[in-house]
Amino acid sequence: MKIKISDNVLLIAGKDRGKSGKVIRVDQKRKKIAVEKLNLITKHIKKTKTSKGDKVRYETFFDVSNAMILCPHCSKPARVEYKTEGKTKSRICKLCKESVDQKFDSSAIKSKKTKKQS
Ligand SMILES: [Zn+2]
Repeated sequence: MKIKISDNVLLIAGKDRGKSGKVIRVDQKRKKIAVEKLNLITKHIKKTKTSKGDKVRYETFFDVSNAMILCPHCSKPARVEYKTEGKTKSRICKLCKESVDQKFDSSAIKSKKTKKQS
């Protein structure tokens, strides 16, 4: 599974199609992900003697095939391939060939901002 926690993804299917958000939970076994503020369901908590009951909204899992990684470099929904350099395996955007791994993002984006786009 190529999507990891804290990736930005674009939904390409389902009721939240076209929306994007940050991955907050990943279920590797079932190949499902949950995205911040998307695919929300409302759960009603029943009244009990000790609590007055409530509604909570939370993100449910959906199939990973409904989402595409949004590349932090070209800002497009990108197909991702793996690139192995020595012992490190990183995920590369097929469109711009830049790493989509969050670890490298902040430094990579900062250095890009100083350059003028051609
Ligand atoms: Zn890209």
